[in-house]
Amino acid sequence: MALVMLLATLIALFSTTQVSKSMGVILDKRLPTMMQTLRVAKAVDALAATGVSIASVRTEDDRQVASQRFDNAVVELEQSLSGLDRIPKEMDDVRRLAAELTENLLRLSNMAEQRVDMVRERQFGHERLSANLQTFKQHLTYRIRIIEGDNDVIGRLLSRPSPPIDQIIEMARRSAHWAPVQRFYTEVESITGRGLAAIQDPTLTALAISRQILKTALIEAGITFKNLPSEINSDLGRSFTELQKIILAETGLLSFRRRELMLGIKSQNLISENHRITRLVDEATSGLVRRELSVMSNAGQSADEIRQRYTLILLIVTGLGLLAIASLMYFHVMRHVILRLSWLSEAMQFIAAGKLDAPLPPAGNDELGRLGFAVHQFRRTAIEADRREADLRLSNQKVEKICVELEQKAQELAIVNNKLAELSVTDFLTGLANRRHFDEVLGTEWARAVRTFQPLTLIMIDVDHFKKFNDSYGHQAGDECLKKVASALVTNLCRAGDFVARYGGEEFSIISAGTDLAGARELAEKLRRAVQAMALMNEDSLFGIITISIGIGVCIPDRKQSASDLVCIADKALYEAKTRGRNRIEDFGEPQKKGSDQTQ
Ligand code: GH3
Ligand code: MG
Ligand code: MG
Repeated sequence: MALVMLLATLIALFSTTQVSKSMGVILDKRLPTMMQTLRVAKAVDALAATGVSIASVRTEDDRQVASQRFDNAVVELEQSLSGLDRIPKEMDDVRRLAAELTENLLRLSNMAEQRVDMVRERQFGHERLSANLQTFKQHLTYRIRIIEGDNDVIGRLLSRPSPPIDQIIEMARRSAHWAPVQRFYTEVESITGRGLAAIQDPTLTALAISRQILKTALIEAGITFKNLPSEINSDLGRSFTELQKIILAETGLLSFRRRELMLGIKSQNLISENHRITRLVDEATSGLVRRELSVMSNAGQSADEIRQRYTLILLIVTGLGLLAIASLMYFHVMRHVILRLSWLSEAMQFIAAGKLDAPLPPAGNDELGRLGFAVHQFRRTAIEADRREADLRLSNQKVEKICVELEQKAQELAIVNNKLAELSVTDFLTGLANRRHFDEVLGTEWARAVRTFQPLTLIMIDVDHFKKFNDSYGHQAGDECLKKVASALVTNLCRAGDFVARYGGEEFSIISAGTDLAGARELAEKLRRAVQAMALMNEDSLFGIITISIGIGVCIPDRKQSASDLVCIADKALYEAKTRGRNRIEDFGEPQKKGSDQTQ
C-alpha cells in the first residue's frame, strides 16, 4: 500500500513539475512579451490618436493641450518599446513605424502652430474687413438716406394736384447724381459678405471660385467707384484700396484661407499616413501576439498532454496497486477468515447434528482461533451432555420401570385396602354390614333427619331361642341359620335406602330413613313373615321353627336427642316383644312431631 502511494506521489510530482515547467515558460516569457506587445500597439494607437486632436487645433490653448497629450503618448510609447528589448528583431518594423509616426506628428504640431497663427491673422483680417465696411457705411449711409428722402419727397410732390415740376426735376437730377452711391454701397456690402463667406470655403476649388467671383465684383465695384461723385472718391479711395488688399492681396483673407486649406490637406495626408502606420503597427503587433498566442496554445496543449499522459499512468498505477491490495486482502481474508469461518460453521453444523467426531479447526490466539477454541469447548460440552443424556435416559427408564411397579403395587394395595375397608365394615359370617358400620350409618342418617325433620326408623331383630338351636343343631348349623336369616332380611327390604346390619350375635338391625311407624310395622311384619316362611327347624322352640322378634323405634330426631336414644327405644320394644311371647313386633307408638306440634 505504502509502495503504491509512494509511486503515485512520485508520478504526480513529476507530472506537476513538467506541467509547471511548461506553464512557467508561458508565464515568464510568452505572456509578458505578448502583454508588452499589446501595450506597444495600444501606445501607438494612442499616439496616432493625438494626431486628430493636433489637426483640429485652432487656439493656443488647444495646441498646448494637444502638445501635452502628444508628449505623454511619446513617453508611453518609448517605455513600452523599451520593454521589448529581448525581441528587437521582431519589433524593428514597429520601432521604425513608430519613429515615422512621431515624425509625422511633429510635422502636424508645426502645422498646428501655423494654423493657430493663421486663425489669428484671419481673425485680424475679418476685423479689418468689418472695420472697412463700417467706414463705407459711415461715409455712404447718410447720402443714401438723402436719396431715399428725396425720392419720398418727389413721390409726395407728384401726388399733389399740381406738382411743382421744377422742384421735382431739380430733386430728380440730384438723385441721379447720387444714385451710384447706393449701388456702390450695396456692392461693397456684398463683397464684404462674400469675402467673409469665402474664408469658410471647405475646398480649394470652392475658394478659387470665390476668388474669381470676388475679383470680378471688385472690378465692377471699381467701375462704380469711378462714377461716384468726386468728393466721395477722395474720402473712400483708401478704404476701397484696403478692401481689395484685405480680400485679394497675398496677405489677404483668401490667401490665408488657401494656406489654411492647404495646411488642412497636408494635415489630412499626415493623418492618413498615420492611419497607415497605425495599421502596419497593428498588423505587426497582431502577428506577434498571434504568434505568442500560438506558442502559448502549443505550450498549453503540450502541458495538457503531459498532464493527461501522467494522469493516465497515475490511474493505471493506482488501479493496479489497488487491485493488488484488493487481491492480497481477498486471499488473506479468504485464507484466514472465510475458510476458517466455513470450517467452523461446518463443524458447528456437524456438532449440532450430533456428529461429534467431525474435524475441528485448530484453536489460536486470534479472534477466530478463540472462536475455534470455543467450538472445541462446545464439542466437549456436547459430548458430556450426550453422555449425561444417555445416563439420564437410562435413569428415566429405571424410574419408569419403578413407577410401573409402584403403580402395580399401589393398585394391589388399593385393592387390599378396599378389601380391608370392606372387611372393616362387613360382617364376616353374613356378609351384611357389621356393628361399626351400623353405628356410622346411624350417625349419618340421624344427622340428616335432624336437618330434614324427617322420621327415622330403627328396627331391632333378635332370633328367638337361638341358644337352643345351637344346642340342638350345633354352632355350624347355627351359623348357616344366621346366614339364611340375613339373606331373608336383605331380600325383603323394600327401599334401596334401607340399611341392614348384623348388630351382634343373633341380632340384626335395620335403618330406614323417612319411614314412619306404619311403614315400619309393615316392613317388620314382612320380615317376620319372611323368616317364618323359611321354616327352619328349631324343634326346641315354642314354634318349632326359627322365628324372629322385632322392636321398632321411630322418631323425628332433634338436636336434644341422640341416636342412642333411638337405639334404646327400639331395644326396649324388642324386649317387649320377647316378653310378650316372641315371634312378634312391638313398638311405642307414633312419635310426636315437635316441629308440627310447635307449629300447631
Ligand atoms: P331368647 O329367645 O330369649 O332370645 O333366647 P335365646 O336363647 O335365643 O337367647 P340367649 O341370649 O340366651 O342365647 C343366645 C345364643 O346365641 C347364645 C349363643 O350361643 C348363640 N350365638 C350367638 N352368636 C352365635 C353365632 O355366631 N353362632 C352360633 N351358632 N351361635 C351363636
Ligand atoms: Mg339375643
Ligand atoms: Mg335370641
